[in-house]
This record gives sequence, structure tokens and C-alpha cells, in this order.
Amino acid sequence: MVSTQSTRIQTRGNCDIIDITGYVSDAVRDSGINAGTVTVFVAHSTCGVTTVEYEPGLVSDLKDLFNRVAPQDIPYAHDKRWGDGNGHSHARASLLGGSLVIPFTDGRLILGTWQQVILIDFDNQARSREIIFQMMGE
Ligand code: ZN
Repeated sequence: MVSTQSTRIQTRGNCDIIDITGYVSDAVRDSGINAGTVTVFVAHSTCGVTTVEYEPGLVSDLKDLFNRVAPQDIPYAHDKRWGDGNGHSHARASLLGGSLVIPFTDGRLILGTWQQVILIDFDNQARSREIIFQMMGE
């Protein structure tokens, strides 16, 4: 059985890091599927998803990491082409990836105690983001 759901959230952009674990859990529960996998996917080119221990220190560390890996204040060919100033946002999103697969049993996500699912919005402005959850199982 396959069940596809989606939800929309507002972000502040600029490396906004949002705990979306509750949305994923709700989608799995609402699907009525007992065991399987859920794919979490963002259909956008300037945000991504991953897992982390969601606490202020790591939220800050992750922002620092992306500032070091793909700084905003260096030239990007994308900015020269479009002038939208978010070349760093696209580069960071491609590096992080736009999807994640999590297994579940008994209708519950199999996550570590200190492991939350997060969305990071790298765009250079606030955005409305659609998150897609596709549950496959029985
Ligand atoms: Zn762009």
C-alpha cells in the first residue's frame, strides 16, 4: 500500500532550521499503514532535509557549517545568471539533499532517542514550503 500526504510550513529562510518530526509522525499515523518506510521530500531547490539532535548548540553548529562550506559572500555563477542572490542557497541545498527515508513499525518512526527530522531553508528570504510524505508498506 502507498499513501501520499503533504503539509505546508512557513520558514524565515536564511538557514532556518525547523524540527518537522511531528509532521512526519502524524503522516505515518494518518496513513494507517503499520510497517514500512516513509520518504520525506521537499520539492524545492533551496531547502533540504536531514536528521540531527535538535538542540540550540547543534542548530548553531549546523548554520556555522554551511557558512563555512558554501559562504554567502563569494561569487556564484547562478547569481550572475539570474541576479537573485541565492547561489549559496542552491549549493547548500544540493549538498544536503532534498529527501530522507525513515523506517517505521507499529505506526511509529524508528528514530534514535536524540534524533529529530529537520528541514533547513537556505533561501535568502522567508518562504512557504511544501513537504511531501510518501508511506510505503503494509
Ligand atoms: Zn536561485
